Amino acid sequence: MPSNTVVILGGGVGGMMAANQLRERLSEDHRVVLVERDAQHAFAPSFLWLMTGDRKPHQVRRPVADLLRRGVECIHGNAEVLDLTKRKVFTSTGEIPFDYLIVAVGAELAPDAVPGLAEASHTFYTFEGSSRLYNALASFTGGSIAVVVAAMPYKCPGAPHEGAMLIADYFHRNQRRTGIDIQLFTPEPQPMPVAGPQLGAAVVEMLESKQIRFRPLHTLAAVDPAERVMRFQQGNTERYDLLVAIPPHRAPRLAREAGLTNVAGWVPVNPQTLATEHPGVFALGDVTVIPIPGRWKPDVPLMLPKAGVFARVQAEVVAARISAEIEGRKPDETFCGDGYCMLETGEDLAGFAYGNFFAEPSPQVNLRQIGKAWHIGKVLFERWWLSPPGWRRATYGAMLKMGGRLYGIPITV
Ligand SMILES: Cc1cc2nc3c(=O)[nH]c(=O)nc-3n(C[C@H](O)[C@H](O)[C@H](O)COP(=O)(O)OP(=O)(O)OC[C@H]3O[C@@H](n4cnc5c(N)ncnc54)[C@H](O)[C@@H]3O)c2cc1C
Repeated sequence: MPSNTVVILGGGVGGMMAANQLRERLSEDHRVVLVERDAQHAFAPSFLWLMTGDRKPHQVRRPVADLLRRGVECIHGNAEVLDLTKRKVFTSTGEIPFDYLIVAVGAELAPDAVPGLAEASHTFYTFEGSSRLYNALASFTGGSIAVVVAAMPYKCPGAPHEGAMLIADYFHRNQRRTGIDIQLFTPEPQPMPVAGPQLGAAVVEMLESKQIRFRPLHTLAAVDPAERVMRFQQGNTERYDLLVAIPPHRAPRLAREAGLTNVAGWVPVNPQTLATEHPGVFALGDVTVIPIPGRWKPDVPLMLPKAGVFARVQAEVVAARISAEIEGRKPDETFCGDGYCMLETGEDLAGFAYGNFFAEPSPQVNLRQIGKAWHIGKVLFERWWLSPPGWRRATYGAMLKMGGRLYGIPITV
């Protein structure tokens, strides 16, 4: 059997999982090469706890190399150009030819896409941003806090709601909630439209129970940092004292310039196999766009949310399919659209949403009652993800699966 080189671009949630799965499945005759520009991997769901001081920076990051299986070649560098005709990637440290390629470069934040936003806002969508926001919350003396989803699409449909609730909880815990008004603005008609009206209403109720005003159908047009005013496309303006933004997202330049993206700027793939239209080239996770049944506005179809839970399972599917092809077997693993998310509400409690996002005629998503168990599940998940391959990771994985069985939920780790 000839030796194959599988190159994975991006060592975040999906890329790291794909590399580890491929290394486990393929013999040493084949190379598994991961290109990642950051030496440290930060676990994004923990950014919310970093913002509230429930985690210290060192608790939510690990060196990428520590999280990879032995035998994965990790190149610490930037993938600069992708030549799909020559089947080569040009990185800041040299060029790499590939037989198979997995594009897992995620979504990048583009605060510059809204005038004034970069200067005016804080964010809990990055590691550095969450650390800075922790200091901003600590020194906030009262007034109006606006949590703003600047544009669609954005990753993790639950995170803005969790962020607003955890900010409210932070001030409540510190006996500083009085005199602070918190509002959540979003272009969407309801929270998490992909999960249906019932779940949306339940999330609005959660927000209201924390005295957070939900302001749907607001698309941010510009911010005036000097006057502390936001202008929305709908024509109205709103004042703020502290602006916490979920900035617009876009696919990284590498994917756009390689000609992989569609008119909307994301990489279309086969929803079941994650194959692009280029032979042997797959894409997964946040950089992709996958239409699903249903609409969130009469003229706008639903897309699979950008979430780690999907990136991870898609990585398993792609790794299984590539290794089957290399070994001369017919690939039969497919991505079925199942997903779940723990929604932190503060006071060490969380809700739990799970379901099938490929269901017809629209996604079937259920929400379990808020409870401590889901919060503990999220903490266990964090420990599992940040543990190196080996017994510690296996132990947390077993605990998560056991917890899932106890509550009748198929948790895959
Ligand atoms: C605050 C917050 C909370 C979240 N909570 C949840 C949650 O509870 N559940 C959930 O399922 N999801 C959650 N998410 C979403 C989740 O983190 C992402 O959906 C997931 O990380 C996507 O995985 P990915 O592999 O596609 O991209 P990423 O994990 O973003 O990885 C992309 C990687 O590619 C690298 N890269 C990019 N370009 C290049 C290049 N040119 N060269 C080299 N490397 C490059 C980046 O450095 C990065 O490491 C949350 C996100 C945020 C911000």
